[in-house]
Amino acid sequence: MAVKTYNLRTQGDLRISPNFTVWEFRCRCGRHDDVRIDSRLVDFLQGVRDALGVPVTINSAHRCAAHNRAVGGASNSFHLQGRAADFTAAGRTPEAMAIAAEGVRAPGIIRYTGRRNFVHIDTRPGRYWATDHSGTIRTVSTFGWRPPAPPPHGQEIIQTLYRVTTQRDPLNVRATPNGSGRVLGQFPRGSLVTADRRSGDWLHVTDGRLTGWASALHLTDAVVQAIDRLVSQRVIDSPHYWRERYRDLDHLDRLLINLSVLTLTPGISAASLEEAIRILVGAGAMDPPGAYWITNHGQVRHLDTLIKRAAGMVAGR
Ligand SMILES: [Zn+2]
Repeated sequence: MAVKTYNLRTQGDLRISPNFTVWEFRCRCGRHDDVRIDSRLVDFLQGVRDALGVPVTINSAHRCAAHNRAVGGASNSFHLQGRAADFTAAGRTPEAMAIAAEGVRAPGIIRYTGRRNFVHIDTRPGRYWATDHSGTIRTVSTFGWRPPAPPPHGQEIIQTLYRVTTQRDPLNVRATPNGSGRVLGQFPRGSLVTADRRSGDWLHVTDGRLTGWASALHLTDAVVQAIDRLVSQRVIDSPHYWRERYRDLDHLDRLLINLSVLTLTPGISAASLEEAIRILVGAGAMDPPGAYWITNHGQVRHLDTLIKRAAGMVAGR
């Protein structure tokens, strides 16, 4: 479980995600300093906030037993464990807020309309999505969320950093994904570019100035390349060494090394893994749900997905 107890007096201003602080999750009784917060709940709220693009106001998150009784909460309410939040979003209807909550796949979502207008989300096991219109409760299978539009036909959408790995020459950038496409310009060998989609053996890439199609045969996934480099140079051999090096490196290198540690060390002990994850999360390089998922399962097979996502994060900065 990813619930942590914070101290309101000493940690109230602590920012636990880009848009939320500990203070916002406090029990509204005002009689104690402990604030319980599930990091997964924060992640879902931040996701909702990002999707809506407007400020999200938490009306109730952690509740002590006395306050929970006072507001008529269920005796087993997830609010007691710091695993639930009731919120509104500036200028947005409960319908729109619930759709956003569905978009981030919050396990518990209740959309209140009628006498009350807010959305409740929680991190319960399993899934419970429901509407409550002035006390009339119905479970629903969807609030109307639709997945993003599929990529154009034949093109896979990606978001990855690539290094230009031609033997000697610069890499031609073409107007269309084929060898006869008009040449728009060239990327120097060794330059770093971002690809946003693929068509066959061609990648649609940009270096910020020049954008077009280039042959994937001469582009190497920068993260994979960096990891290979770290393997060959034996840069990483223990999380402790990595932790010492950590402060001197820029964000991208930190990220690569972070992920490499987990990737390069198949026999990594549970303690080392926990330590690596703790530092990763602290650096903002991995989000807690992913980290805790790994911790809980003691497996690293999904790291590939995390690496790809992290590479996209860096490319988008
Ligand atoms: Zn309280």
